[in-house]
Amino acid sequence: MNISPIKIFQPNRNNFKYSLKNSPIFRGSGKTEDSFEKKSVPCEFPLTKKYGLNIQDIEVKSTNPIAISDKQKALFVEKLLEAHELAKKNVETGNIVQLGFASNLCLSDNTWHLATNFNNTRNDISSICGERSAIVVAYNDFLKKLIKDNDTETTQDDFKIKYLAMSSAKNIGEDSNASLPCADCLSWLNTARFLDDETKIAFFTKDKETNKLFLEFKTLKDILPMRGIDLIDSKADIELDEMPFVFTDDAKRIMDEKGITNENILNTLKEAKNAYTKDEFTSFSNQKIGAGISVNGKFYTASKVDWSKRWFVEPVEFAIAKSIEDFNKFVTPEIIAYYGDNETKCENAVVDDGIVSIRTLGRIKAIDKDNESLVVTINNNDEIDVRSINDFMPKKSTFKQSYLK
Ligand SMILES: [Zn+2]
Repeated sequence: MNISPIKIFQPNRNNFKYSLKNSPIFRGSGKTEDSFEKKSVPCEFPLTKKYGLNIQDIEVKSTNPIAISDKQKALFVEKLLEAHELAKKNVETGNIVQLGFASNLCLSDNTWHLATNFNNTRNDISSICGERSAIVVAYNDFLKKLIKDNDTETTQDDFKIKYLAMSSAKNIGEDSNASLPCADCLSWLNTARFLDDETKIAFFTKDKETNKLFLEFKTLKDILPMRGIDLIDSKADIELDEMPFVFTDDAKRIMDEKGITNENILNTLKEAKNAYTKDEFTSFSNQKIGAGISVNGKFYTASKVDWSKRWFVEPVEFAIAKSIEDFNKFVTPEIIAYYGDNETKCENAVVDDGIVSIRTLGRIKAIDKDNESLVVTINNNDEIDVRSINDFMPKKSTFKQSYLK
């Protein structure tokens, strides 16, 4: 791994004389919808200079139209380089996974907050990625500022995340994992309280042929197309047998490729409903979820097991574990079905926490070599929705845990 600043982008310092007082791009008084307040603009861009980047040479790419001024572009480049440097320092100083990722996070008040991954062991509970780390740091900074300003008006609802500028320790633009949240981070990004569909991820990419560097943007909706959609109400008035199927194109593709029939899907969903119906465990969250999976033509079921209000065994993972133990080798399901309650109910608070686990889908996708052949089915009110794993998280949107296999 080359963790030195890249040399490909030769300094063009003559073209990079940012003087905030004199530069026309910083003098503009017109406030655009997405403007950065002057106070948040740094007075210089030391890392952009250090890496010899010429802002004009960096093209902006976005899946959705994005209005970005030159000054914003310069700021994003600098913020990405700050993240890159922090990620590098994380590796240089002995991070046990030898991987560094960092996010520079911009809140709706245009303040930026930087953090990198933190790993105690390789067990999942003792690691936190750059993205989640930055969210935690930003949140603490936000509260500390309220204390400092003696602000009693601002509430947590004002903590809104606008941008996540994501980078890694590897050469800028050359690490495809740098902008891919892992399954655990995706489950955070899927939440709605502090993030929304328009929250954007900014990252560097590079054209391998020309070495041209790009500043790319994508929205959370791009990587989590189903986010914010309340998928399910299992209290349907009719039986599963009577429900019409509704397919996405990608689900149909998988069914054609794998010879999966409507009956296969209906039977898997019935297994999930059976698990749900039989479930009489104490449920701290008051949310029952049954899962049914089909693996090499065999069914396995499991129910969500609450350990406490916030710790539980996710039923699809539980069912997959059963199948792996049964086959005594690593197998992955071709169909997974969820049936259950959309809401959790704790201490009189009812929250739409949903049934489908983004974390679980992300793990299946990441571990099984970018799995694109999984059918995910649930009954949505009075119809059976048949989707694919790609409908929840499009191709190659999930971080690959490189030390797993
Ligand atoms: Zn992560």
